[in-house]
Amino acid sequence: MPNKQIVIVGAGPAGLACAEILSELGDYDITVYEQKPSAARKFLMAGKTGLNISHVEDLDIFISRYDHAEWLRPMIELCNAETIQAWMKGLGIESYIGSSGRIFPNEMKAAPLLRAWLKRLQQRGVKFFYRHQVMRMNSLELTVLDLSHQQQHTLKADAIILACGAVSWPQLGSDGQWQHWLDPCVIQPFSASNVGVLVKWSRYLQPIFGQPLKRIKAWAEGQTPQYGEMVISHYGLEGGLVYRCNRDLRETMKTQKSTILYLDLLPDWDQTQILHKLQQGKKQSLNTLWQKIGLDKTKIALIRDVVSKADWNDALKMAQHIKQLVIQIHGLRPVEEAISCVGGVRLEALDKDLMLKNSPHIFACGEMLDWDAPTGGYLLTACLATGRWAGAGVHQRLNAPEKS
Ligand SMILES: Cc1cc2nc3c(=O)[nH]c(=O)nc-3n(C[C@H](O)[C@H](O)[C@H](O)COP(=O)(O)OP(=O)(O)OC[C@H]3O[C@@H](n4cnc5c(N)ncnc54)[C@H](O)[C@@H]3O)c2cc1C
Repeated sequence: MPNKQIVIVGAGPAGLACAEILSELGDYDITVYEQKPSAARKFLMAGKTGLNISHVEDLDIFISRYDHAEWLRPMIELCNAETIQAWMKGLGIESYIGSSGRIFPNEMKAAPLLRAWLKRLQQRGVKFFYRHQVMRMNSLELTVLDLSHQQQHTLKADAIILACGAVSWPQLGSDGQWQHWLDPCVIQPFSASNVGVLVKWSRYLQPIFGQPLKRIKAWAEGQTPQYGEMVISHYGLEGGLVYRCNRDLRETMKTQKSTILYLDLLPDWDQTQILHKLQQGKKQSLNTLWQKIGLDKTKIALIRDVVSKADWNDALKMAQHIKQLVIQIHGLRPVEEAISCVGGVRLEALDKDLMLKNSPHIFACGEMLDWDAPTGGYLLTACLATGRWAGAGVHQRLNAPEKS
């Protein structure tokens, strides 16, 4: 009997993880089609900021970071921080745990890991076709365009795994064209996640664009304040802490044009302590006084920009502003700029093996599925976990006894 033909669309981390498990589980002819000239461009881009691949924390807390936590639980239980570190080690890549629990390869780069990973897959017989764009899918028949020679061909597979990514950073390959192949009712429209927010600053704030707001807390209405830092940019705010508030801000902005992000600029002091300090130093200039209570130049500039001048000399009002600074948010940056996306293939359209319920033997994995998580290694962990899960699902399905 000839080997079963398996086609994976997309050589991102989800597609590669899927190819890897399939190459372990059986004698399959595995072919990966990738429209870019090389594999995993977004993964390599993630490597530019160190490649935070996972996160060490209690598994229940880890899983709770996802919006569809219980749905992802079995997949993350099988492929979690510990297994990912062991997997990297197996590929010759040592990793370390940063102070916040984030896991990075020692070299803080994705390229060595990707090289070792691709080598392993090639040694196991996985075939890669780069500059090959899948254009259409009709049940298990695919139309593929060889972009180098502008030649099209069709092929039939025994199973197809879609690992095409979402729609952010489309220049890296994840252009969302696959959405045309599927029934629109199985897709939740995409929106940006882990993305900057829009604030209308005055021109006086210009000198501090690019400066970080360090050691602050931030929260959206009804959200628990979260500790961290963000950066003031010409269009608004960027960075990990603002990303963690994205989900709540996005929900509110579905029904209203703007919303509020609250900042606590001195989270180590309570309002009474700040009030006391402000009252004690009344004879000093405002800048000196504000610096003395612990506000740096960036925080002071921000206060001057968003707080009415009438309040600056009112110690009580200033203590309130410092503990709960109101920032009007007018929107999110476009999805193309986002680190990740929310939306994609609806979870209810998939069976427990990540096969599309209405398309037998067609599976999906990675960021093209409708789950969301903050940055911190959770995105790549879920891409690897769903990729491996879909691969195991394919194996299960192809080896299940035929129903008579
Ligand atoms: C700047 C940046 C930094 C990031 N940093 C981190 C980080 O530190 N930690 C973290 O956890 N996550 C990070 N992420 C997110 C992470 O990189 C993604 O979640 C992950 O790459 C998604 O993997 P994927 O395999 O699902 O999709 P992708 O990586 O998008 O791969 C999909 C692949 O499919 C190919 N493809 C699509 N359609 C077709 C088609 N029709 N035919 C052929 N090929 C096709 C694409 O070319 C692409 O190569 C970062 C993202 C960005 C943009």
